[in-house]
Amino acid sequence: MANKPQLPKTLQEAVSFFSDPQKTFDYAVSLRWPTGKVTCPRCESTEHSFISTRRLWFCKGCKKQFTVKVGTIFEDSALGMDKWMIAVWLIVNCKNGISSYEVGRALGITQKSAWFMMHRVRLAMHSKEFVQLGGCGKEVEVDETFIGGAARFMHADKRKLKITDRGVKGKAAIMGILERGGEIRAAVVPTRRKHDLQAQIRAHVKAQSAIYSDALLSYHGLNRDFAHKTIDHAESYVDGQVHTNGLENFWSLLKRGLKGTYVNVEPFHLFRYLDEQVFRYNNRAKKDHFVGDGDRFHKAMSLIAGKRLTYEQLTGKGTDSIHHEEAGTRPA
Ligand SMILES: [Zn+2]
Repeated sequence: MANKPQLPKTLQEAVSFFSDPQKTFDYAVSLRWPTGKVTCPRCESTEHSFISTRRLWFCKGCKKQFTVKVGTIFEDSALGMDKWMIAVWLIVNCKNGISSYEVGRALGITQKSAWFMMHRVRLAMHSKEFVQLGGCGKEVEVDETFIGGAARFMHADKRKLKITDRGVKGKAAIMGILERGGEIRAAVVPTRRKHDLQAQIRAHVKAQSAIYSDALLSYHGLNRDFAHKTIDHAESYVDGQVHTNGLENFWSLLKRGLKGTYVNVEPFHLFRYLDEQVFRYNNRAKKDHFVGDGDRFHKAMSLIAGKRLTYEQLTGKGTDSIHHEEAGTRPA
């Protein structure tokens, strides 16, 4: 077995590492086919010949060529893997997010190309989590927030007027579920009604968990399956163990990114920014577990195989304009 190259741990090392096309290619291949067995992404055939000068395979099954990019978020992109790798690095490691303008400038490409890259990376960061949070003896916080609203700073009387169970007018409701010392799940929910909120809880939290929430009526009835305790935010924000401060911290990180870095987020794209923030949160360093920038990068990269997102899917528009722009930035 060949010696595994030392993977980059800092941005500087990453830039140097991924400027080497062979190292980049070997890295991408090791992620795409972790067992070492290269299979055709179109027909699954393992019969192929490798054309090393062009770093592509000719499949003997379907008689077509394929590259390491086919079937991944990099498919159809004329941008070099060196740029893609650095884009991934920046997105997964910037705590408050990074704008497409900044990524564009850093890589010498247009903002539009950078925006599209970043949405593809976010898709990769959206890993479907099947593991439920909590369990007997575990503490789980649940809470909702509105993106764009200023509910937390509103006077209680005003809150009652402006906030209904359907949410604040024109704002998107987001529900978060956090296991203390563990992971977070967050999703855009249609309403703050019982059905919508409790469906999230039952999908993501193990029965018997201790659940802490505010006094919203939508949470009533959780006591049948969980040890549910509520706190009245009109009275105080902390009552011993019963609080949702962990989620409050997450909301402020999310909003800092949305307000400061991403000035205009269309509601349609909101869940992707949410996925990005959730990924960084769930892959943060913990008390007894160090997670470096390189680890976060590698984790995101390992989620990329098999994910594909086209420009049409993102915007409903054709691909012509973006391809022209990308082609213009193709490394010589
Ligand atoms: Zn094939």
